[in-house]
Amino acid sequence: RHGGVSLATLPGLAQRHFPLCMQTLMTQLRSEHHLRHTGRQQLSLFLKAIGLPLEDALIFWRQAFAPRIPPEKFDKEYAYNIRHNYGKEGARKDYSAHNCLSIIRMSGGATELHGCPYKRMDEASLRASLSRAGCDLSRMEEVVSKAKGGHFQLACACSFEGMHKGIPLDSGVNHPAEYYSESRRVWE
Ligand code: SF4
Repeated sequence: RHGGVSLATLPGLAQRHFPLCMQTLMTQLRSEHHLRHTGRQQLSLFLKAIGLPLEDALIFWRQAFAPRIPPEKFDKEYAYNIRHNYGKEGARKDYSAHNCLSIIRMSGGATELHGCPYKRMDEASLRASLSRAGCDLSRMEEVVSKAKGGHFQLACACSFEGMHKGIPLDSGVNHPAEYYSESRRVWE
């Protein structure tokens, strides 16, 4: 099995192995130093699912929100939620990450960032995001046509092939954390 995720390895792993839904949130977080609640939950629970420890998660979010949100404000207003996701506050439940169906269901409009990009993005933005993510041009038309046809998970599986030298994802895409593990398995 592949190694874990830490604060230091996260940026490289994100670029190489995250599905488009999570790459979009990481990019937004980097440029805006902020994510609205739903996107934050989507990314935070995913990072937990792939093995980012709580201590690293707190530093990651605190650094990502700075300087827009000063560290003291982060600790007061945002840290609780991250700890809560890890089952360290409130009901102390071990919350699991959303699967693709839930993420697809919670997709907002084209201007929202949470949700599944294959559902919520318009064609031009989807093409631009896919080429930024390194999707092979030969797969682009198929990905776009599957997304347009409402087959979002098939579009994602096809983009996986486009980003992994044509290697297919036999089990399809049902969970972003599975996409991540498969991607690591293929490249490592
Ligand atoms: Fe993320 Fe699943 Fe959509 Fe792929 S199909 S982008 S893993 S929500």
